[in-house]
Amino acid sequence: MSLSREQMLVEMGISPIWVLREPGAQTEAPAEKPTAVAAAAPEKTEALAVPQPAVVKVEVPVRPVSSAAHPQNSVFAADSARDVAPNGNAATIESKAGPRVDSLNWPELAKQVAACKACPLCQQRKQAVLGVGDLNPDWLFIGEGPGAEEDTQGEPFVGQAGKLLDNMLAALDIGRGNKVYIGNAVKCRPPGNRTPEATEIATCRPYLDRQIALLKPKIIVLLGKVAVQSVLHEDKTLASMRGKRFEYAGIPVVVTYHPAYLLRNLPDKSKAWEDLLFARRLLRAQASPELPF
Ligand code: URA
Ligand code: SF4
Repeated sequence: MSLSREQMLVEMGISPIWVLREPGAQTEAPAEKPTAVAAAAPEKTEALAVPQPAVVKVEVPVRPVSSAAHPQNSVFAADSARDVAPNGNAATIESKAGPRVDSLNWPELAKQVAACKACPLCQQRKQAVLGVGDLNPDWLFIGEGPGAEEDTQGEPFVGQAGKLLDNMLAALDIGRGNKVYIGNAVKCRPPGNRTPEATEIATCRPYLDRQIALLKPKIIVLLGKVAVQSVLHEDKTLASMRGKRFEYAGIPVVVTYHPAYLLRNLPDKSKAWEDLLFARRLLRAQASPELPF
């Protein structure tokens, strides 16, 4: 079924978008539930439902693409803990563990992820889920980790949250596979869809680093706290990070709510829409840097 743009916005719960609310009216964002993303502090919003130009605050580049920059290549860390020299020498780990992740091409990366046993999430997965989409994308969306549907089908965001994500993409006139790549912070399903642990996120991170290095997206959208933890190494609330421009290896990064959270907190869909418009402005600004946006 093909939805019109207006239907799409209705589906996202953000139509009509040009509604002026009572001056001074405020909405409270309920705290996030811990199942998909960790709790965010309640947040006050502006009175307008209209997406507002966000204040662009440029943050310092947070971290480089190459996992070589990490003193310890964490994909191999769990497997090879016994190989760590007393001084924690990373070279020791990598030379015994096989090829470095940061030199892999796509087929090699896919093969290595499919066979990966570097963290405990390998134990109950049906399959590792690397990602899906255009390998030369403008947009990179990063979620948390596969759920039950994704574990079965081998593709990210194919369950309920995925349907919402697809609607959000459609409202931006983009779709998975067309200038968009979708991936996750961890590639294997956490049992019972629990939030991945910090060590699991860190262990899987070099794969995501390598994906970003190969994809070279023009904008990265982080969906929820786990993606933020993985890419930006930040543990602040999403509410405090929304509407700001972060960077990863020179690529602009925007933070928004995870679609699974939005399914439980429908009023926040309008905030996610604002975030996506902000991301689109950053993307367009790269194409026409002389134009104000
Ligand atoms: N939630 C995620 O974060 N990723 C998926 O792939 C599916 C649901
Ligand atoms: Fe390997 Fe990542 Fe899967 Fe852990 S989650 S087993 S690090 S692919």
